[in-house]
Amino acid sequence: MTATVDQYTAAVVEKFGPELTIRQIDLPEPGRNQALVKLHASGICHTDLHAAEGDWPVKPSPPFVPGHEGVGEVVKLGPGEHDVEVGDIVGNAWLWSACGKCEYCRTGRETLCNEAQYGGYTVNGSFGEYMLVDTRYCALIPDGVDPVEVAPILCAGLTVYKGLKMSDTKPGQFMVISGVGGLGHIAVQYAVAMGMRVIAVDIAEDKLELARKNGAEFTVNATETDPVAAVVEYTNGGAHGVEVTAVHPDAFGQAIGMARKGGTIVFIGLPPGDFPAPIFDIVFKGLTIRGSLVGTRQDMIEALDFYARGNIHPAVRECSLEDVNEVFEDLRRGRVEGRVSIRY
Ligand code: NAD
Ligand code: ZN
Ligand code: ZN
Repeated sequence: MTATVDQYTAAVVEKFGPELTIRQIDLPEPGRNQALVKLHASGICHTDLHAAEGDWPVKPSPPFVPGHEGVGEVVKLGPGEHDVEVGDIVGNAWLWSACGKCEYCRTGRETLCNEAQYGGYTVNGSFGEYMLVDTRYCALIPDGVDPVEVAPILCAGLTVYKGLKMSDTKPGQFMVISGVGGLGHIAVQYAVAMGMRVIAVDIAEDKLELARKNGAEFTVNATETDPVAAVVEYTNGGAHGVEVTAVHPDAFGQAIGMARKGGTIVFIGLPPGDFPAPIFDIVFKGLTIRGSLVGTRQDMIEALDFYARGNIHPAVRECSLEDVNEVFEDLRRGRVEGRVSIRY
């Protein structure tokens, strides 16, 4: 299928479920503060699968186009002043736009804005040949990089980098990365680049192998060994920080056990469900437990800068838009090593 002048090919969620429909949809006209972008690449995040399946309490409205790790070229600008020009390479992001005026926006916490729009969720995303971005919120992609490789930085890299900052863990201290998928394998790399001593936990041996290749000094297979006991023993009392990117609620309870007294646990993964939290341990160990949602525009600049300086090398398998349903199936079964990115 090829796009006509006023239509383009996209992968569309027609109704909640695992199957996207590849079809032509209307090419949008960029509105005020918006640009039309011709895609070169898009990463496929596990969040896109949650979106397609309608997993979360706050749901998108089908039909919609997922995708929030899109990289492409600005081909048309809407009315208004813009910080980007036609020909610039930009990225969309989960934080597609925010109001810029509320308490959260004013205090550097724009990801919490109640008026925020989400790429590939409330606004059509990057699983298609074109997308719109808000030029006040889109990412500027560093010069000369492979779009397929940089794409995962836009969500996976940004999110884990911000989460590591939120963990207040210092160079030389222990950081557990629980879940070494698309987000987690990049988290290992950022944590190493930030000087932390990295421990990785997953339920699949190939993921742990990737973590070791990326600089994790100790790894635990949670299907074979009790990850709490193993981490507490290795770190002589628990890790200073724990970042949970796993897609199973069990990992969230385990994270509390893995933390050292005074430690900080950052929840990032979003599997549907709950887990039991031990009140006594949390109080007596003086733990901090926080959620972290993607990152701000400033976090994005910093996360991309780590990449541009050669510190971060996402493990990326390339695919085409037509493969998206297969990739979803692989994600559901935990069979994706690193990230899969669409090349257009
Ligand atoms: P992924 O499927 O690539 O990786 C998930 C990993 O979790 C896999 O390696 C899997 O083996 C591992 N895992 C599953 N069960 C586990 C367990 N019990 N213990 C340890 N590891 C386990 O997914 P991804 O793209 O990396 O996304 C991960 C999660 O993060 C998703 O729920 C996604 O929606 C969420 N997410 C959150 C944010 C945010 O801003 N908070 C941003 C992006 C993604
Ligand atoms: Zn994502
Ligand atoms: Zn706001």
